[in-house]
Amino acid sequence: MEIHKIEAGTFQCDGGAIFGVVPKRVWQKRYPADRDNFCKMAMRCLYIAVGDKRIIIETGAGDKQLQYLKYYNFQDVLPLDKALLAFGTACEDITDVILTHLHFDHCGGCTHNATDGTIRMRFPNAAHWVGKTQWDNFLNPNIRESDSYFVENMAIVEQSGQLRLIESDRFLCPEIELRIFDGHTVGQLVPYITLPNQTLVYVGDVIPMSANIPLAWISAYDTHPIRSMEEKQRLLDEAIEKAQMLFFGHDAYTECCTVVSTNGKYRIGETFDFDTVITNSVCRYVRKDERKRKR
Ligand SMILES: [Zn+2]
Repeated sequence: MEIHKIEAGTFQCDGGAIFGVVPKRVWQKRYPADRDNFCKMAMRCLYIAVGDKRIIIETGAGDKQLQYLKYYNFQDVLPLDKALLAFGTACEDITDVILTHLHFDHCGGCTHNATDGTIRMRFPNAAHWVGKTQWDNFLNPNIRESDSYFVENMAIVEQSGQLRLIESDRFLCPEIELRIFDGHTVGQLVPYITLPNQTLVYVGDVIPMSANIPLAWISAYDTHPIRSMEEKQRLLDEAIEKAQMLFFGHDAYTECCTVVSTNGKYRIGETFDFDTVITNSVCRYVRKDERKRKR
């Protein structure tokens, strides 16, 4: 398997929106904010080549609505066609696009403005995987989420017949399982990627940043807060039990981490750069952990 991260740009969100009811005095010790209380957020995607599949997980916000969304102060937005060139791949080669959910900062890069003014698919030959309940929510959004959904991000994907809706957990290929979590929004897809000696979990907005690991530290954007906490707990319990590695799409400072819990409180175990995870150091970490368990 070949696997690369793609930094598709950054934007800013209000810290109060990101950490919900948690007071700033508490969260600012775990995540920095500027004078206006804005926090820097990454849009970190993955490219995976395995077997005959060429897979993109998440597409970032793209560049269609940057002016309309200028409040978010998007920076360094990297079109995915340029990003893929670095790996010797073209957008036409992509077979599968996995979208955790359809808020603009996750699916906007699926489509782009062509020079003739029309909106085109960025990955014209790819199946685009979305949770069925997330798709239904996109078509009939509630009053909270309607501002985050843009019809033009997905309309031509649906018209192309390349939208694939998932109603239950399933494997995309032997190395990647797509699981459904109802955290943050309904029907979010969480890819579980099997690496040698390690499972990498692309946690999406179930846990947008490592600072969101404590159960109550959920975003004010979450539509069903209690459900969000329950779903996060389900993900974290398995991550601890199986020593899985979490991969964060939005954390501008921490790419990956393990999780521990003490007396029912969840916190970061160890943090890692993505590149370190892909090298042997994490294999050593797993062996060290196994030794502990055997004792
Ligand atoms: Zn997001």
